[in-house]
Amino acid sequence: MPAARVLIDGPSELVFDYAIPDGLPVVPGCRVRVPLRNRSSAGTVLQLVDATDSGFALRPLDALTDPQPLVTPKLLELGRWIADYYGCGFESVVRVLLPEAVRTEENSAKTRKTVVLDQPADEETLAQLAKRAPRQHTILSLLAHAPDQRLPLTELGSAAATSVKSLASKGLVKLVDSEVRRDPEADGQAEILADTPLELNAEQQEALDAILATVPAVRGDGGTHQAGQTGETGEAGKAEDGQAPPAAKPLLLHGVTGSGKTEVYLQAARHTLEAGRTVLVLVPEISLTPQTVRRFRARFADIQDQVAVLHSNLSQGERFDEWHRIRKGQARIVIGARSAVFAPLPELGLILVDEEHENSYKQDQVPRYHGRDIAVLRGHLEGATVVLGSATPSLESFHNARDGKYRLLRLTERADARSLPVIRVVDMRLESRKQKSKTAFLSDPLRNAIERKLTNNEQAILFLNRRGFARSLQCPSCGHVCTCPHCSLALTYHRSDDRLLCHICGHQAVVPRRCPECRDPSIALQGFGTQKVEDVLRKVFPEARVARVDADALRRKNALRDLLNAFRARKVDLLVGTQMIAKGLHFPNVTLVGILNADIGLHVPDFRAGERVFQLITQVAGRAGRGELEGEVIVQTFTPHSPSIQFARHHDFDGFAAQELEMREQFHFPPFARCAVLTSRSTHERRAEFTLQTLHRRLSEDAPPGILIGEPLPSPLVKAHGQFRFQLMLRGPSARPLTRHVQRILARNPLPEDVTVVFDMDALSFT
Ligand code: ADP
Ligand code: ZN
Repeated sequence: MPAARVLIDGPSELVFDYAIPDGLPVVPGCRVRVPLRNRSSAGTVLQLVDATDSGFALRPLDALTDPQPLVTPKLLELGRWIADYYGCGFESVVRVLLPEAVRTEENSAKTRKTVVLDQPADEETLAQLAKRAPRQHTILSLLAHAPDQRLPLTELGSAAATSVKSLASKGLVKLVDSEVRRDPEADGQAEILADTPLELNAEQQEALDAILATVPAVRGDGGTHQAGQTGETGEAGKAEDGQAPPAAKPLLLHGVTGSGKTEVYLQAARHTLEAGRTVLVLVPEISLTPQTVRRFRARFADIQDQVAVLHSNLSQGERFDEWHRIRKGQARIVIGARSAVFAPLPELGLILVDEEHENSYKQDQVPRYHGRDIAVLRGHLEGATVVLGSATPSLESFHNARDGKYRLLRLTERADARSLPVIRVVDMRLESRKQKSKTAFLSDPLRNAIERKLTNNEQAILFLNRRGFARSLQCPSCGHVCTCPHCSLALTYHRSDDRLLCHICGHQAVVPRRCPECRDPSIALQGFGTQKVEDVLRKVFPEARVARVDADALRRKNALRDLLNAFRARKVDLLVGTQMIAKGLHFPNVTLVGILNADIGLHVPDFRAGERVFQLITQVAGRAGRGELEGEVIVQTFTPHSPSIQFARHHDFDGFAAQELEMREQFHFPPFARCAVLTSRSTHERRAEFTLQTLHRRLSEDAPPGILIGEPLPSPLVKAHGQFRFQLMLRGPSARPLTRHVQRILARNPLPEDVTVVFDMDALSFT
């Protein structure tokens, strides 16, 4: 007898099997009501199982809420893959596939009373009304001129209700509940102007052609091909009739900043819609959705309301509305952050992952999936084309392109034929000798450049790199950083026992009292905050309007949007900020970008440190000179000869990638290995440490071949949220054996009650 395995709504992730009453068309992904103890609960069908296995009679389902599954089989398949790959419960994945706002029964479409003209009144009635009931007469003429001959009741004035009632009793109007859409991007976007496609340059055209050659069309064989509902083969694009091309290789679009990638996206999206398919656009940050939404809404102004927005800052109501608009095929372009990769788009034809290298695509809670990687897999499952775009592709994606798994497309020049900005590197060792103490982070060249911009009425962005937590040790006069002799990584300072520690191999060192290189006694923890930079700028440039963007300044909802709007409107001259302002923003009047401390990022205990600094300089530089005016970039650094800085300065991605990949291969780091992190956390330091040490022993005992197991060590961020953290790194040639090995050991070794263990496959953060 068939039964349904049901995930019960609610925080505890209960899963039970229920018998399916005869004739009830239950399929995976359906919403059902089931008996639980002596109540009725709502839940989602995870899969169909054979009930004869269980050996005792199952209770039957109460009811099928909706015969249409809310989650398509393809998305369920994707969910199963995620659970397996990242080593997490399938239930936790279903919770992201089917967001709370969509599941809860309290949530529903928002409606409002709307008056609709029902039957045109004849002359005689009108004349009578005009005389005896002028208010009813006015309402009728308002309705006659309204679009669709309908108006919300509230717009007919405060006393309209009685008049409408008597009009309704005469059969002239109807009062209905109509759905109102809660549009998350409605404010601030009212003034959207339609825009038209630009004529592409040769490289853009080539990229567009390559993309379109692989975008599947809806099958012409009568019934449209319902994405996600054909078979289990994972080859939805492989149409037997040969009309839709098979799921093609993902395309990596490497285009320098300002090369017109967005224009290519827009035109590819247009063609995909014309082919009868839908489009998913992923952006790395919620803060970047409004500008992307604006560009898409402007371009698709001719087909109203086709653009939906999905991200984790939506209200429950907004999410409910957007989700259902998407599912019903009313919104055929979805723009969103990471979790939008699960948008229930039917007939998915194209997935665009913008700034694919961004770490924010990785979710830092269970399930710890990577939005870009899931996009690639979803494209494969649904036969949709996947385009990964970036000016600084991740080495993982670039390596895949070199290996032939992805196809590489390139835009090598700025679309407006402007040259890339000149990047100047300022050696802070010389600067700090010149002007000790005063304004240590403001070199003469940067200060002069800011002055020039202020005089010319142009804008500047000053960028403070805050990766890591001022935990590496650097000498202010020679720039020397204490690094591990075994791992070429910066040692991390641990205050509790005043020592330096390597987070890969465990090497320990005493904290030097003088710089080992130049003997200067002032070697110290480096770091200064945006707040301090802002204060100093106000003093040095009293006439300038300065604003600061960092997590503190942005507590208020919409604070970032308002601030960026003020900057765009040129109400701010100097913008000081952290990573947040390094991404994709477009301000035509910005002609100077200063990076105050390019180094910090280099000396964190992370093998991707060099890659991140390269990305950062390149991306930040891309913010300069995007309008009519030439751009200029000043990079302040204590290590001017570091390869990340030099390759970025020369706009040489290939050079950087070649040398960095060589290093990764030599040290067995991704993309040449898979890397996972196992972390233990507890309020009891010893227990966290002991637990991880025990797991380490067990993991090492019968590790599958090729797996490298690092030492259990305190995390760089050793205490967070009141919990002590210890971690170890695991590496291996492929992901599954690693995940399975860890899962097996965890299953066999129950944890002490007050210790939690976190497994992060393809970890991007080592703090
Ligand atoms: P990217 O996304 O690669 O950083 P954008 O798409 O934002 O680049 O394009 C940068 C600028 O170049 C924009 O102002 C855009 O309007 C302009 N642009 C893009 N393509 C063309 C083109 N074919 N001709 C002229 N200008 C273009
Ligand atoms: Zn080491």
